[in-house]
Amino acid sequence: MSAATIADPTDDAARDPAPIVPAIAVHGVSHAYGARKALDNVSLTVPASRFTALLGLNGAGKTTLFSLITRLYDTRQGSIDVLGHRVSREPGEALRLLGVVFQARTLDLDISVMDNLLYPAALHGIGRREARQRAHAALQEIDLVDRAREQVRKLSGGQMRRIEIARALLHQPRVLVLDEPTVGLDVASKSAILRQVRALVRERGVAVLWATHLLDEVTPGDAVVVLHRGRVLASGDVADVVTSAGGTDMRSAFIALTGGAPEAPA
Ligand code: ATP
Repeated sequence: MSAATIADPTDDAARDPAPIVPAIAVHGVSHAYGARKALDNVSLTVPASRFTALLGLNGAGKTTLFSLITRLYDTRQGSIDVLGHRVSREPGEALRLLGVVFQARTLDLDISVMDNLLYPAALHGIGRREARQRAHAALQEIDLVDRAREQVRKLSGGQMRRIEIARALLHQPRVLVLDEPTVGLDVASKSAILRQVRALVRERGVAVLWATHLLDEVTPGDAVVVLHRGRVLASGDVADVVTSAGGTDMRSAFIALTGGAPEAPA
């Protein structure tokens, strides 16, 4: 196994009185469905204010990890912290800091775009007036303000995804996790969504965990975690992971790490 490590936050803590708390810290997490082990002693760090790609083939365990981070499942073995808040002990605080975009579509197709944004905002305790302002601003940012009153089912798949991302951000979380958000979208929608999310990191310092099986969604400046058959094979800056795996780029590094997985990500 080759593992480039992400910079140890304690190094910075020694120099800086305000320690840098990782956006997400996963330690020794295992999860099984009956006899099938989906995650095996997984540890990883999602650095604050960066884009981290969680790269893995189908069945690697990405969705299982998301389900544990977002507390759909209880963490029975190991621990998960969101900005220093243990998900199992302080779920309210941890989840308040988290925005989530699930792999399956979760918009209500029969109500308007605006109502899809306003209802979850109410669940987060955001007042109606404030929610309207935030929803309007969010739709403006993704160029869909003119569609606010339309039924969601009249939008394209890419537009729906962008609304889901806007919705996940309405309570102004500091960490955004997205499970394969570009699956099934065309090239233009895919790059619009990547641009939208990368701008959040650059302009607002939101930390992003982006699960994907697509190598072309990873850029050299990203952090990356390679998950394969429930285990973390490498993590750190892309350049370090590539070097430590003896590859020339992320594709060759992925193949080297996974031992020539039958189906390398596209
Ligand atoms: P994909 O990219 O296909 O969504 P993934 O990386 O998200 O894959 P998971 O969905 O977490 O991977 O699956 C990890 C393993 O756990 C797989 O072997 C899968 O078959 C199994 N698994 C996932 N969910 C369940 C479930 N509800 N019951 C039983 N086994 C499951």
